[in-house]
Amino acid sequence: MSGADRPRRDLATYRAMRDFARTAEPRGADDDAAGGDRYVIQKHAARRLHYDLRLELDGVLLSWAVPKGPSLDPRRRRLAMRTEDHPLAYAGFEGVIPAGQYGGGAVVVWDRGRWTPRDEPREALARGRLSFELHGEKLRGRWHLVRTRGDGKAEAWMFFKGKDEHADAGRDLTAERPESVLTGLTVEQVAAAGAR
Ligand code: MN
Repeated sequence: MSGADRPRRDLATYRAMRDFARTAEPRGADDDAAGGDRYVIQKHAARRLHYDLRLELDGVLLSWAVPKGPSLDPRRRRLAMRTEDHPLAYAGFEGVIPAGQYGGGAVVVWDRGRWTPRDEPREALARGRLSFELHGEKLRGRWHLVRTRGDGKAEAWMFFKGKDEHADAGRDLTAERPESVLTGLTVEQVAAAGAR
């Protein structure tokens, strides 16, 4: 399925991948209001550590898994694999997904705030070029998502910093600020607490 064919609000895929009797992740509502502009990045210590970038659009969180996390250096283009839409309630999820469940491992809310698309976002998504401003606690300024492979199931994008006053090739924010913006905890601390 291409970006253009994707339904506006698809939580069926998200739900089919999870057993809500076992995971504390939210099932989500079908009638969440559209029109919000939440932005969140969750750091997720699954089998392979990654960062989940989520942008609210039409009542769901559009999602990409970014293995290396964001870079403030505009030359560092980070692979971002498009993943299933997540419910809005997921933006506040922090905790441990049990081993054996999809995405098993600790999750922290690494950054959150608002986003502002520079163009009509549905058209930009369909085109595979989305430029936007992030107003987060850690990430700010202009960012880009560019689709490099659009064959639906394994849709590959690149996520990278735009050239503005918030760009900084000399800083590694993922190393400098590993903690949750909600609790100040690291994924390692959340994992340890969950294992008790
Ligand atoms: Mn994830």
